Amino acid sequence: MAKITRKPASRKAAVPKKKAKPVAAKPKAPARKTLKATRPWTPAEVHEVFSRFRKANPEPKGELEHVNPFTLLVAVVLSAQATDAGVNKATRALFEVADTPQKMLDLGEERLRDYIKTIGLYRTKAKNVIALSAKLLSEFGGQVPRTRAEIESLPGAGRKTANVVLNMAFGEHTMAVDTHVFRVGNRTGLAPGKTPLEVELGLEKVIPAEFMLHAHHWLILHGRYTCLARKPRCEVCLINDLCRWPEKTV
Ligand code: SF4
Repeated sequence: MAKITRKPASRKAAVPKKKAKPVAAKPKAPARKTLKATRPWTPAEVHEVFSRFRKANPEPKGELEHVNPFTLLVAVVLSAQATDAGVNKATRALFEVADTPQKMLDLGEERLRDYIKTIGLYRTKAKNVIALSAKLLSEFGGQVPRTRAEIESLPGAGRKTANVVLNMAFGEHTMAVDTHVFRVGNRTGLAPGKTPLEVELGLEKVIPAEFMLHAHHWLILHGRYTCLARKPRCEVCLINDLCRWPEKTV
């Protein structure tokens, strides 16, 4: 009986009311410095960054092996959610037998699958490569088209694919944003953005034209070998004095 008359619930109910005020008064967790809060890059600083990249590696190369625009296009389509090294392993033999849309169609989807079965999502990718080869033949005279919209209309090809092909095959000043470029654009504060498109447009806006042909590769290589996702190598980073990332380790 005594237990019933203790009314613990009413005591507890009083507690949150008392605590409500201190919560409001308590300062929030120390606001982490955000990229928005960091000093914006000046044009001179951006120029300096890319001058350093250029000095260290004047002619950066993409790591996807290819022998012509068509094989580049195929390699990029195959590289979605796969490593360049993994794609190269499969395409070395493939491109020896199928380096044109017609040869790819002649090879056929089933045999193509055999060549690329070590690559993730290879069934869907094989279907797309056959379909894009057919479309290149029926609509583009067997050539890789030169506009973004046309490339994006090909099965398996999106904006990133179009940007890579336009840049590497045709020398256009495009900025393909993969996971590395996305990370570097955000961390450094060069072009913060929530989506690859935001980062792409941000980078295009700040990078001087003289660097745009190679900027995509410099940023990819920087992300792949220096500004690593889990443990960035800030101590050997070429641009560590300019980088705005609040968590950089130097
Ligand atoms: S200083 Fe560190 S975080 Fe900044 S770009 Fe270099 S490696 Fe990346």
